[in-house]
Amino acid sequence: MERYVYADNAATTPVSKEVVDAMMPYLTDKWGNPSSLHAKGREASIALEDARARIAACLGADAKEIYFTSCGSESDNWALKGAALAGKQKGRTHIITSKIEHHAALHACAWLEKQGFTVTYLGVDTNGVVSIEELKAAISDKTALVSVMLANNEIGTIEPIAEIAKIAHEHGALMFTDAVQAIGNIPVNVKELGVDMLALSGHKIHTPKGIGALYIKKGVRIDNLVDGGGQERGKRGGTENLPYIIGLATAIERAYARLPEMERVAKLRDYLIDNILAAIPHSTLNGPREGRLPGNVNIGFEYIEGESMLLLLDFEGIAASTGSACSSASLDPSHVLLAIGVPHERAHGSLRLSISTETTKEDADYILEKLPPIVQRLRDMSPLYEEAMQAK
Ligand SMILES: *Cc1c(COP(=O)(O)O)cnc(C)c1O
Repeated sequence: MERYVYADNAATTPVSKEVVDAMMPYLTDKWGNPSSLHAKGREASIALEDARARIAACLGADAKEIYFTSCGSESDNWALKGAALAGKQKGRTHIITSKIEHHAALHACAWLEKQGFTVTYLGVDTNGVVSIEELKAAISDKTALVSVMLANNEIGTIEPIAEIAKIAHEHGALMFTDAVQAIGNIPVNVKELGVDMLALSGHKIHTPKGIGALYIKKGVRIDNLVDGGGQERGKRGGTENLPYIIGLATAIERAYARLPEMERVAKLRDYLIDNILAAIPHSTLNGPREGRLPGNVNIGFEYIEGESMLLLLDFEGIAASTGSACSSASLDPSHVLLAIGVPHERAHGSLRLSISTETTKEDADYILEKLPPIVQRLRDMSPLYEEAMQAK
């Protein structure tokens, strides 16, 4: 059989059997509505609260601080819009975020701007680390919220969230972090981070797509995004998606239990980075060498188009990405790569490999065997490359 190497775990992850097994009873016999007062409902409500407690325990939170949502994007939207609208009632109409956030957060900020809020987009250095100087210069007693992601989905940069949260709190602002990429890759604890809100998503840690959660610290008041019945203590309407919530609890426990394995994943990441850079001329690592997610490799190749590279890799059974799955449908270069100062041409020729605990050394060697000839083949067809080589 041909080899298949899945190196796009930052886009989504395969659903794990353990997660499906845990979900199955709630897709079949245990179909009750947790709000019902009869036995079927009680059975569901006990399972719901058990899942909430298990997720809270992983994050270092209290069960009452966990709210279920439909996905990471909903959690991002709720945190941003909810905190902005609540802030407005106290005369705070300014939001601070970064230029390299996920589109779910960036587009929520664009919506807030249309509603009259002011948004500051912090710049980042060449490694993708948010500028603390710009933060200090921008923040004021008008700032309702500071929102910076814990780890970037394209280049793997891990942000200094605890430091940023401290500055936000000194000015009476709330602190939110999108931890969707971080969960399962690095230890995440809400107390150590000092955040007021934190978003996570199931399908990046092996649940099916369509479940997320938002941590909201006790005492923090934000407006609702989804109004409805009294579910989630009146803060998020909609009958709870119990099977997926059970799946999320199983997935997060499994992800935390496997954190020690991430050291091996980080070694495999470095093995890939070192060998790709050595084998392919005119290639550059995008993002940091240190302080990077253990599963993230992002390399720019001059003189080629990332999309063509993806197609040829796909023919060889290698699933990769140019950046984020969400922006790959458009031809604009990644906003993250542009923010760290990668020139347009190189941003277009970038490849993201996101590996996991499932990735083996043989998988890495297969990528290292297939990638260099693909890059060479594309360059041989490129007039830009020909010109550049003749100029030398
Ligand atoms: C995937 C992702 C999201 C969106 O999560 P969904 O569950 O797909 O909506 C948000 N932020 C980051 C950093 C992500 O990687």
